[in-house]
Amino acid sequence: MSGDIEQQHQDLVDGVGRVCAGFGDDYWRGCDRDGAFPDAFHRAMADAGWLGITMPEAYGGAGLGVTQAALMMKRVAACGGFSAASAIHINLFGPHPIVVHGNDEQRARMLPPLVRGEHKACFAVTEPDAGLDTTRIKTAAKRTNAGYVIDGQKIWTTTAQHASHIMVLARTTPYEECAKKTQGLSLFYTAFDRDRIEAREIPKMGRSAVDSNQLFIDGLEVSDEDRIGEEGEGFRYFWTASTRSAS
Ligand SMILES: Cc1cc2nc3c(=O)[nH]c(=O)nc-3n(C[C@H](O)[C@H](O)[C@H](O)COP(=O)(O)OP(=O)(O)OC[C@H]3O[C@@H](n4cnc5c(N)ncnc54)[C@H](O)[C@@H]3O)c2cc1C
Repeated sequence: MSGDIEQQHQDLVDGVGRVCAGFGDDYWRGCDRDGAFPDAFHRAMADAGWLGITMPEAYGGAGLGVTQAALMMKRVAACGGFSAASAIHINLFGPHPIVVHGNDEQRARMLPPLVRGEHKACFAVTEPDAGLDTTRIKTAAKRTNAGYVIDGQKIWTTTAQHASHIMVLARTTPYEECAKKTQGLSLFYTAFDRDRIEAREIPKMGRSAVDSNQLFIDGLEVSDEDRIGEEGEGFRYFWTASTRSAS
Protein backbone atom coordinates (compact mmCIF):
# COMPACT_ATOMS: atom_id res chain seq x y z
CA MET A 1 0.00 0.00 0.00
CA SER A 2 1.47 3.40 -0.89
CA GLY A 3 1.90 6.06 1.77
CA ASP A 4 -0.75 8.20 0.07
CA ILE A 5 -3.38 5.50 0.29
CA GLU A 6 -2.47 4.73 3.88
CA GLN A 7 -2.86 8.40 4.73
CA GLN A 8 -6.23 8.60 2.88
CA HIS A 9 -7.48 5.60 4.81
CA GLN A 10 -6.30 7.09 8.11
CA ASP A 11 -8.02 10.40 7.26
CA LEU A 12 -11.22 8.50 6.52
CA VAL A 13 -11.09 6.61 9.82
CA ASP A 14 -10.32 9.84 11.69
CA GLY A 15 -13.26 11.58 9.98
CA VAL A 16 -15.68 8.83 10.99
CA GLY A 17 -14.16 8.93 14.47
CA ARG A 18 -15.03 12.64 14.79
CA VAL A 19 -18.73 11.80 14.30
CA CYS A 20 -18.48 8.82 16.63
CA ALA A 21 -16.95 10.98 19.35
CA GLY A 22 -20.38 12.55 19.88
CA PHE A 23 -21.89 9.15 20.75
CA GLY A 24 -20.39 7.60 23.83
CA ASP A 25 -21.13 4.47 25.80
CA ASP A 26 -24.06 6.08 27.65
CA TYR A 27 -25.79 6.80 24.35
CA TRP A 28 -25.40 3.25 23.09
CA ARG A 29 -26.33 1.72 26.44
CA GLY A 30 -29.51 3.83 26.42
CA CYS A 31 -30.45 2.78 22.86
CA ASP A 32 -29.90 -0.87 23.73
CA ARG A 33 -31.76 -0.67 27.06
CA ASP A 34 -34.78 1.12 25.53
CA GLY A 35 -34.80 -0.71 22.20
CA ALA A 36 -34.55 2.74 20.60
CA PHE A 37 -33.24 3.15 17.05
CA PRO A 38 -30.12 5.39 17.09
CA ASP A 39 -31.76 8.17 15.06
CA ALA A 40 -29.34 10.88 16.21
CA PHE A 41 -26.32 8.80 15.15
CA HIS A 42 -27.93 7.99 11.79
CA ARG A 43 -28.63 11.71 11.24
CA ALA A 44 -25.09 12.73 12.25
CA MET A 45 -23.55 10.19 9.84
CA ALA A 46 -25.81 11.43 7.03
CA ASP A 47 -25.02 15.09 7.75
CA ALA A 48 -21.29 14.33 7.62
CA GLY A 49 -21.76 12.62 4.25
CA TRP A 50 -20.79 9.10 5.34
CA LEU A 51 -24.00 7.38 4.24
CA GLY A 52 -23.01 8.09 0.63
CA ILE A 53 -19.54 6.59 0.87
CA THR A 54 -20.18 3.97 -1.84
CA MET A 55 -22.64 6.04 -3.89
CA PRO A 56 -21.54 7.76 -7.11
CA GLU A 57 -20.44 11.38 -6.76
CA ALA A 58 -23.04 12.38 -9.38
CA TYR A 59 -25.75 11.49 -6.86
CA GLY A 60 -24.18 13.13 -3.83
CA GLY A 61 -21.97 10.24 -2.74
CA ALA A 62 -18.22 9.90 -2.33
CA GLY A 63 -17.74 7.25 -5.04
CA LEU A 64 -15.45 5.16 -2.84
CA GLY A 65 -15.20 1.37 -2.77
CA VAL A 66 -15.72 -1.62 -0.52
CA THR A 67 -12.31 -1.21 1.18
CA GLN A 68 -13.16 2.31 2.35
CA ALA A 69 -16.67 1.26 3.37
CA ALA A 70 -15.19 -1.61 5.40
CA LEU A 71 -12.77 0.78 7.15
CA MET A 72 -15.66 3.08 7.91
CA MET A 73 -17.81 0.26 9.30
CA LYS A 74 -14.93 -1.03 11.41
CA ARG A 75 -14.63 2.41 13.04
CA VAL A 76 -18.42 2.61 13.47
CA ALA A 77 -18.49 -0.81 15.14
CA ALA A 78 -15.71 0.27 17.50
CA CYS A 79 -18.00 3.13 18.54
CA GLY A 80 -21.37 1.46 19.09
CA GLY A 81 -20.98 -2.22 18.20
CA PHE A 82 -23.69 -3.92 16.17
CA SER A 83 -26.24 -1.27 17.17
CA ALA A 84 -24.23 1.38 15.35
CA ALA A 85 -23.21 -0.79 12.43
CA SER A 86 -26.64 -2.29 11.75
CA ALA A 87 -28.30 1.14 11.92
CA ILE A 88 -26.50 2.21 8.75
CA HIS A 89 -24.95 -0.74 6.93
CA ILE A 90 -28.06 -1.73 4.94
CA ASN A 91 -28.07 1.75 3.41
CA LEU A 92 -24.48 1.39 2.25
CA PHE A 93 -24.66 -2.06 0.71
CA GLY A 94 -28.33 -3.02 0.26
CA PRO A 95 -29.22 -0.40 -2.38
CA HIS A 96 -26.09 -1.09 -4.45
CA PRO A 97 -28.05 -2.96 -7.15
CA ILE A 98 -29.59 0.45 -7.96
CA VAL A 99 -26.11 1.90 -8.44
CA VAL A 100 -24.95 -0.91 -10.70
CA HIS A 101 -28.12 -2.10 -12.45
CA GLY A 102 -30.62 0.76 -12.10
CA ASN A 103 -31.27 3.21 -14.92
CA ASP A 104 -30.41 6.92 -14.78
CA GLU A 105 -33.94 7.92 -13.74
CA GLN A 106 -33.90 5.41 -10.87
CA ARG A 107 -30.47 6.46 -9.67
CA ALA A 108 -31.46 10.13 -9.69
CA ARG A 109 -34.73 9.42 -7.86
CA MET A 110 -33.61 6.75 -5.39
CA LEU A 111 -30.00 7.46 -4.41
CA PRO A 112 -29.81 11.11 -3.25
CA PRO A 113 -32.46 10.71 -0.48
CA LEU A 114 -30.53 7.69 0.83
CA VAL A 115 -27.28 9.64 0.84
CA ARG A 116 -28.96 12.52 2.67
CA GLY A 117 -30.43 10.09 5.21
CA GLU A 118 -34.00 11.12 4.33
CA HIS A 119 -34.90 7.62 3.16
CA LYS A 120 -34.03 4.46 5.09
CA ALA A 121 -33.92 1.21 3.18
CA CYS A 122 -34.46 -2.32 4.41
CA PHE A 123 -33.45 -5.41 2.54
CA ALA A 124 -35.91 -8.32 2.25
CA VAL A 125 -34.53 -11.57 0.84
CA THR A 126 -34.67 -14.25 3.55
CA GLU A 127 -37.95 -16.13 4.02
CA PRO A 128 -39.21 -18.53 6.70
CA ASP A 129 -38.59 -21.51 4.38
CA ALA A 130 -35.72 -20.10 2.35
CA GLY A 131 -32.56 -19.00 4.11
CA LEU A 132 -29.33 -19.60 2.26
CA ASP A 133 -31.15 -21.37 -0.59
CA THR A 134 -32.48 -18.12 -2.01
CA THR A 135 -33.79 -19.77 -5.17
CA ARG A 136 -36.54 -21.34 -3.02
CA ILE A 137 -38.18 -18.07 -2.02
CA LYS A 138 -41.94 -18.09 -2.45
CA THR A 139 -42.76 -14.38 -2.37
CA ALA A 140 -44.29 -13.75 -5.79
CA ALA A 141 -44.59 -10.65 -7.95
CA LYS A 142 -47.46 -11.12 -10.41
CA ARG A 143 -47.84 -8.97 -13.50
CA THR A 144 -50.70 -6.48 -13.65
CA ASN A 145 -51.48 -3.86 -16.29
CA ALA A 146 -49.78 -1.20 -14.17
CA GLY A 147 -46.78 -3.24 -13.02
CA TYR A 148 -46.77 -5.96 -10.35
CA VAL A 149 -48.52 -7.01 -7.19
CA ILE A 150 -46.36 -8.71 -4.54
CA ASP A 151 -47.53 -11.26 -1.94
CA GLY A 152 -45.48 -13.33 0.48
CA GLN A 153 -43.51 -13.42 3.70
CA LYS A 154 -39.99 -12.40 4.64
CA ILE A 155 -38.08 -12.96 7.85
CA TRP A 156 -35.20 -11.31 9.71
CA THR A 157 -35.70 -8.07 7.81
CA THR A 158 -33.49 -5.60 9.68
CA THR A 159 -34.83 -2.05 10.40
CA ALA A 160 -38.27 -2.72 8.87
CA GLN A 161 -39.86 -0.79 11.77
CA HIS A 162 -38.04 2.35 10.60
CA ALA A 163 -37.60 1.86 6.87
CA SER A 164 -39.24 4.20 4.40
CA HIS A 165 -38.29 1.90 1.49
CA ILE A 166 -37.77 -1.78 0.87
CA MET A 167 -35.48 -3.66 -1.51
CA VAL A 168 -37.37 -6.88 -2.08
CA LEU A 169 -36.56 -10.02 -4.05
CA ALA A 170 -39.58 -11.86 -5.48
CA ARG A 171 -40.30 -14.65 -7.94
CA THR A 172 -41.72 -13.42 -11.24
CA THR A 173 -41.52 -16.92 -12.76
CA PRO A 174 -42.36 -19.98 -10.65
CA TYR A 175 -39.40 -22.14 -9.58
CA GLU A 176 -40.76 -25.16 -11.47
CA GLU A 177 -40.85 -23.22 -14.75
CA CYS A 178 -37.22 -22.07 -14.62
CA ALA A 179 -34.60 -24.20 -16.36
CA LYS A 180 -31.99 -22.40 -14.26
CA LYS A 181 -33.28 -21.93 -10.72
CA THR A 182 -31.41 -18.67 -10.15
CA GLN A 183 -33.50 -17.13 -12.91
CA GLY A 184 -37.09 -15.91 -12.59
CA LEU A 185 -36.28 -13.78 -9.52
CA SER A 186 -36.73 -10.02 -9.79
CA LEU A 187 -35.61 -7.12 -7.67
CA PHE A 188 -37.81 -4.18 -6.66
CA TYR A 189 -37.04 -1.04 -4.67
CA THR A 190 -40.19 0.68 -3.55
CA ALA A 191 -41.88 2.63 -0.77
CA PHE A 192 -42.53 0.61 2.40
CA ASP A 193 -46.33 0.74 2.25
CA ARG A 194 -47.49 -0.14 5.78
CA ASP A 195 -51.05 -0.68 4.53
CA ARG A 196 -49.69 -3.60 2.47
CA ILE A 197 -46.73 -4.78 4.57
CA GLU A 198 -47.10 -5.73 8.21
CA ALA A 199 -43.78 -5.77 10.06
CA ARG A 200 -43.85 -7.85 13.27
CA GLU A 201 -40.77 -7.41 15.41
CA ILE A 202 -38.93 -10.58 16.44
CA PRO A 203 -37.73 -10.59 20.06
CA LYS A 204 -34.04 -11.48 20.09
CA MET A 205 -30.99 -11.53 22.31
CA GLY A 206 -28.69 -8.52 21.84
CA ARG A 207 -28.65 -5.59 19.38
CA SER A 208 -31.96 -4.41 20.80
CA ALA A 209 -31.57 -0.93 19.29
CA VAL A 210 -31.96 -2.30 15.77
CA ASP A 211 -35.12 -4.25 15.07
CA SER A 212 -35.45 -7.63 13.33
CA ASN A 213 -38.79 -8.46 11.76
CA GLN A 214 -41.07 -10.87 10.03
CA LEU A 215 -42.90 -9.26 7.11
CA PHE A 216 -46.33 -10.18 5.80
CA ILE A 217 -46.72 -8.69 2.33
CA ASP A 218 -50.29 -8.62 1.09
CA GLY A 219 -51.08 -7.04 -2.28
CA LEU A 220 -48.13 -4.63 -2.47
CA GLU A 221 -48.47 -2.79 -5.78
CA VAL A 222 -45.19 -1.92 -7.49
CA SER A 223 -44.83 -0.05 -10.76
CA ASP A 224 -42.48 -1.04 -13.56
CA GLU A 225 -40.43 2.07 -12.69
CA ASP A 226 -39.51 0.45 -9.36
CA ARG A 227 -38.19 -2.80 -10.83
CA ILE A 228 -34.39 -2.74 -10.81
CA GLY A 229 -32.99 -3.97 -14.12
CA GLU A 230 -34.53 -6.74 -16.20
CA GLU A 231 -37.28 -9.03 -15.00
CA GLY A 232 -35.94 -12.42 -13.91
CA GLU A 233 -32.35 -11.26 -13.30
CA GLY A 234 -32.68 -10.18 -9.67
CA PHE A 235 -30.62 -12.99 -8.16
CA ARG A 236 -27.65 -12.17 -10.37
CA TYR A 237 -27.99 -8.43 -9.66
CA PHE A 238 -28.04 -8.98 -5.95
CA TRP A 239 -24.90 -11.02 -5.72
CA THR A 240 -22.88 -9.10 -8.28
CA ALA A 241 -23.74 -5.54 -7.25
CA SER A 242 -21.55 -5.43 -4.16
CA THR A 243 -18.42 -6.30 -6.10
CA ARG A 244 -18.86 -3.86 -9.00
CA SER A 245 -18.86 -0.12 -9.31
CA ALA A 246 -21.40 1.93 -11.22
CA SER A 247 -21.13 1.78 -15.00
C1 LIG B 1 -29.98 -10.59 13.26
C2 LIG B 1 -30.22 -10.99 11.83
C3 LIG B 1 -30.44 -10.00 10.87
C4 LIG B 1 -30.71 -10.34 9.55
N1 LIG B 1 -31.01 -9.36 8.63
C5 LIG B 1 -31.48 -9.71 7.43
C6 LIG B 1 -31.97 -8.71 6.51
O1 LIG B 1 -31.97 -7.51 6.79
N2 LIG B 1 -32.48 -9.13 5.33
C7 LIG B 1 -32.51 -10.44 4.95
O2 LIG B 1 -32.97 -10.74 3.85
N3 LIG B 1 -32.02 -11.41 5.77
C8 LIG B 1 -31.52 -11.06 6.99
N4 LIG B 1 -31.05 -12.04 7.86
C9 LIG B 1 -31.12 -13.42 7.44
C10 LIG B 1 -29.78 -14.05 7.21
O3 LIG B 1 -29.22 -13.53 6.05
C11 LIG B 1 -30.09 -15.54 7.18
O4 LIG B 1 -30.17 -15.94 8.52
C12 LIG B 1 -29.13 -16.31 6.41
O5 LIG B 1 -29.33 -16.07 5.04
C13 LIG B 1 -29.24 -17.81 6.68
O6 LIG B 1 -30.55 -18.27 6.51
P1 LIG B 1 -31.22 -19.20 7.64
O7 LIG B 1 -31.09 -18.49 8.95
O8 LIG B 1 -32.60 -19.55 7.19
O9 LIG B 1 -30.31 -20.46 7.70
P2 LIG B 1 -30.34 -21.84 6.80
O10 LIG B 1 -30.33 -21.49 5.38
O11 LIG B 1 -31.53 -22.61 7.34
O12 LIG B 1 -29.02 -22.45 7.28
C14 LIG B 1 -28.86 -22.99 8.61
C15 LIG B 1 -27.55 -23.67 8.72
O13 LIG B 1 -27.47 -24.77 7.78
C16 LIG B 1 -26.32 -24.64 6.95
N5 LIG B 1 -26.70 -25.02 5.58
C17 LIG B 1 -27.72 -24.53 4.85
N6 LIG B 1 -27.75 -25.12 3.63
C18 LIG B 1 -26.72 -25.99 3.60
C19 LIG B 1 -26.22 -26.88 2.61
N7 LIG B 1 -26.80 -27.03 1.41
N8 LIG B 1 -25.12 -27.60 2.91
C20 LIG B 1 -24.51 -27.47 4.12
N9 LIG B 1 -24.94 -26.64 5.09
C21 LIG B 1 -26.02 -25.91 4.84
C22 LIG B 1 -25.92 -23.17 7.02
O14 LIG B 1 -24.52 -22.99 6.83
C23 LIG B 1 -26.33 -22.79 8.42
O15 LIG B 1 -25.31 -23.08 9.33
C24 LIG B 1 -30.74 -11.71 9.18
C25 LIG B 1 -30.48 -12.71 10.13
C26 LIG B 1 -30.24 -12.36 11.45
C27 LIG B 1 -30.01 -13.45 12.45
